[in-house]
Amino acid sequence: MSGPSWGVPPWRVELPPGRAALPERCDVAVVGAGLTGLAAAYTLARQGVAVVVFEARRLGAGASGRSGGIVLEGTSAGPLPEADDCIATLERTLSEAAIACELELPGCWELTHAENGAPLWRDGERALSLSETVPGGTLDPGKLLGGLAAAAVREHAELHEQAPVRGISGGAPLVLQIRDRELRADRVVLALNAYTASLISAGEDFHPALTLALSTQPLAPGTLEAIGLGARNPFYTVDEPYLWGRPWGPDRLIFGGGLAFAGSKRVERVDIRAQEVARSLAQLEQRVRGLHPALADMRIAERWGGPVAFRASRTPILCRHPSLDGLILIAAYAGHGVALSVHLGRLAARTILDGGTLPRWGEVVSSSEAREVG
Ligand SMILES: Cc1cc2nc3c(=O)[nH]c(=O)nc-3n(C[C@H](O)[C@H](O)[C@H](O)COP(=O)(O)OP(=O)(O)OC[C@H]3O[C@@H](n4cnc5c(N)ncnc54)[C@H](O)[C@@H]3O)c2cc1C
Repeated sequence: MSGPSWGVPPWRVELPPGRAALPERCDVAVVGAGLTGLAAAYTLARQGVAVVVFEARRLGAGASGRSGGIVLEGTSAGPLPEADDCIATLERTLSEAAIACELELPGCWELTHAENGAPLWRDGERALSLSETVPGGTLDPGKLLGGLAAAAVREHAELHEQAPVRGISGGAPLVLQIRDRELRADRVVLALNAYTASLISAGEDFHPALTLALSTQPLAPGTLEAIGLGARNPFYTVDEPYLWGRPWGPDRLIFGGGLAFAGSKRVERVDIRAQEVARSLAQLEQRVRGLHPALADMRIAERWGGPVAFRASRTPILCRHPSLDGLILIAAYAGHGVALSVHLGRLAARTILDGGTLPRWGEVVSSSEAREVG
């Protein structure tokens, strides 16, 4: 029986060779092979730590292989202490690990639904105007993922795909249930993003959702210039309704916007073929066609969705688990995680290496402190 479908994104991830046999013991187990988990694994392995990564499906099966690849600074809640130089961490990592992933940093456009000088495009009945250019750019998320995985393996980290962790217990060492086996690890980095609540409590204000995207077929020559994207800036709206996008390759565009929630809060149960989700994708397509006359007849190449998670404060989760000694929990980037995931994965690894503290903003919110996401 096939499970829910999220469609197929345009990125391709090249996998390093895997290992067949599961080990019984390691220094650090990383759970989740997205950008966060792989950045943590690479950083630890580089320092000689015995790291094993467990991925339930395939590398990048979560948000990381489905991302739009827009590189942004800070967090969705703005720059935070120890999360205000994510682009520099990304650039340093690419250079250190020799990863080529088409990083371009022309600046990211913040757009508003307002007549601000000469509007750029129209979003339905309203004008869309450029408000500000902030630090940022684009990359190919498939190449970043594959590059991080290869770099981690080069440093002797082990990667296991199709290895879902079904439970974690104990402390010093922690015990992970994987397939029909148990593995003991002194430390665990849990980097499950929107799936966190399937394994562990992420607090009452943790909300996973599926977010939607589409890519165009190659556009007619001159289209990017005609619609004002000749300098290849990615963009997002700072007000509702939310829309983001970026040029891709010489002549294609990627757009995204819209959220679908699962009543169960289990994002893996949402399907892009479900009526409500298919309607949101159709609305996204209609909006994009209306932005500029040059896009009215564009042809769509791929339509897909991917998991994101939000907290009311929009600050990520980054903390030591209150009762599972040795476990660090990282999640909930609110759709703002390409550079942040690499930065926080590396920050968590450094904390394990030097025993340092984690910033207060990343603590899990207890039920009495929780508010609903607005
Ligand atoms: C459509 C889309 C577009 C986006 N666009 C942008 C963008 O342009 N810019 C930006 O900054 N951010 C963007 N984001 C957000 C960004 O991609 C994510 O924040 C980032 O990739 C999160 O990485 P991660 O490693 O924390 O999580 P994920 O990549 O989701 O990794 C979690 C992994 O855990 C695995 N897993 C789940 N359960 C288990 C288990 N029990 N055992 C083992 N493994 C398990 C999953 O299979 C998955 O591979 C986008 C997200 C989506 C979905």
